[in-house]
Amino acid sequence: MLRTGTSRRFLARRVWNSFLDELFPENRPYCKLCRKPMPADAMGGYETQDQMLGHGLDSICPFCLQEAEQVKLVNRLKSVRLRHMNPLERSSSHSSEPAIDIRNLPIVCALEYSGFVRTSIRHFKYDGLTALVPWFTSAMIEATETRRVFEHVDGIVHVPTSADRAKKRGYDQAHLLAYAIAKSTRISHIPVLFRSLDAGVFTQSQTAKSKADRSASLQGKFFCKQPELIFGKRILLVDDVVTTGTTMQTCADLILKSGAKSVIGLVIAYVR
Ligand SMILES: [Zn+2]
Repeated sequence: MLRTGTSRRFLARRVWNSFLDELFPENRPYCKLCRKPMPADAMGGYETQDQMLGHGLDSICPFCLQEAEQVKLVNRLKSVRLRHMNPLERSSSHSSEPAIDIRNLPIVCALEYSGFVRTSIRHFKYDGLTALVPWFTSAMIEATETRRVFEHVDGIVHVPTSADRAKKRGYDQAHLLAYAIAKSTRISHIPVLFRSLDAGVFTQSQTAKSKADRSASLQGKFFCKQPELIFGKRILLVDDVVTTGTTMQTCADLILKSGAKSVIGLVIAYVR
């Protein structure tokens, strides 16, 4: 399945096509990832690449798809300290529950945040490249399946983008991921978390702030509508990336405080 090499003919065609595209740039749609015009015969390779990677990747050129095929699952586990301990979880430490340290939030990170993955996540977050959702979610599902996470999850909650930011972009990236994962795993997506303020107000100063300050500034911004929907449930918390883990931690604390039984995190990648 993996196509590592590229034939001379393929390369020659690429050069020839880019030459033609230089001459007639307006004739072809651009690849949303590398920004190069789509090769004229791109459709020829699409059928199979499509089947391999999911669907909806028609806005990405075959060269980028080839790169996507070569991305390996890293399936790293990051752990973030929690402040809130759930009494429900404490009292029911029996049966087939996974051994989850309730003071920590385990976060499954599917891919390595570098090269192609980093570029595609950026385009997904800021450039409206939502066609990558099936590709991201298939990696995320694969990572969680090896850890048998879905056996211990009753509902999926996503880390929300603030309403004004989502409106500006036209989508909430974590919502899209959670929805797609819910659809393929048949676990219900319960969008109970909301973000009250635009985080953009803080981003300038946020990097300079300490982790504790940052977490305090985030605290008030998330709220849970209809906590009864997640009461007693084991939640999979989905976001695009995890950096310091402060956002995930804040949301997980909120979910547990709302009465959920346990939380496990899931992201595309861990940004170091
Ligand atoms: Zn491309």
